Amino acid sequence: WVKESGRGTFRFHQPRKDVDLLSRMRLDHAMRQALQEHEFRLHFQPQIDIDSGQLIGAEALIRWRDPLRGEVSPAEFIPVAEESGFIIAIGQWVLQQAVAQAAQWLQLGLRVPVAVNVSALQFQQAQFVEGVAQALREVGLPAELLELELTESVLLRDADDALHRMQELAELGVLIAIDDFGTGYSNLGYLKRFPIQRLKVDRSFVRGLPDDASDAGIVNAIVQMGRALNLKVIAEGVETEAQRAFLSRCGCHEYQGFLCAPALDARAFEHRFGPPAATADGAAAPVRSNV
Ligand code: C2E
Ligand code: MG
Ligand code: MG
Ligand code: MG
Repeated sequence: WVKESGRGTFRFHQPRKDVDLLSRMRLDHAMRQALQEHEFRLHFQPQIDIDSGQLIGAEALIRWRDPLRGEVSPAEFIPVAEESGFIIAIGQWVLQQAVAQAAQWLQLGLRVPVAVNVSALQFQQAQFVEGVAQALREVGLPAELLELELTESVLLRDADDALHRMQELAELGVLIAIDDFGTGYSNLGYLKRFPIQRLKVDRSFVRGLPDDASDAGIVNAIVQMGRALNLKVIAEGVETEAQRAFLSRCGCHEYQGFLCAPALDARAFEHRFGPPAATADGAAAPVRSNV
């Protein structure tokens, strides 16, 4: 199992124990076909202001129904695509679909920033920033309606290169969030050096709220730190009102999770959050939220 490691060289990877090499190769092959045959879709999970309940954004999450395997979780196929390098093609597709959807919503009067997950290998491509700029240009989407979700691993690999790239993205006006915050090995110093607007508290810390004392302590610390650094803090995986209330008391700004909604297809998202109807002159109607 080899992958292109970026500069024309190939690296061997230790096979993981859970899925054997052959089934990963089959999965990779099936993904390549799926992209050609338009079997991928994007769903959108609402991001909600924790106190007002207003919609503040939508995270684009890829979905794949394979004819043989049925619905395959991204937690299963994204790591395989990252290993083979196919994540670059998938990531480009996701980016284009997400900005196209946001541009279409904008025309319907639904102004919703979309957040797109970006894998480390994708972010490290020399053409990454130009690809983002081009995707925005093609659909005419204002850059501030696109947020890129990066994990801490992106920042650690080649910090100078990452910083340079993030500065270019910031110049474009694109927003940057750190996903799964607290699960990577982080040198917290990067938080003050990098142009970041949002921290996403990982679901693993939200799960035990409000009763688990360790989770409560970790989440409280992340929220206080984020606020001190002038970052927005959003909690993922909020399923209960008790979790939401705890986060609100901590000062967490926003949340996403099944308490509001899972990732929805675009029609369902519009139905729930879109303007009741376009007004006669096409002016934007206010965004409804029924949280
Ligand atoms: P993530 O970016 O941290 O996304 C959050 C995951 O938590 C999503 O799983 C979402 O459906 C799930 N989730 C949200 N709220 C709740 C909740 O209240 N309870 C529970 N139990 N789960 C919740 P999903 O869609 O299966 O995606 C898993 C991971 O796959 C993502 O984690 C992300 O790392 C990756 N992924 C998904 N789509 C893409 C993509 O387009 N590109 C890349 N590079 N990675 C993606
Ligand atoms: Mg994410
Ligand atoms: Mg996340
Ligand atoms: Mg997560």
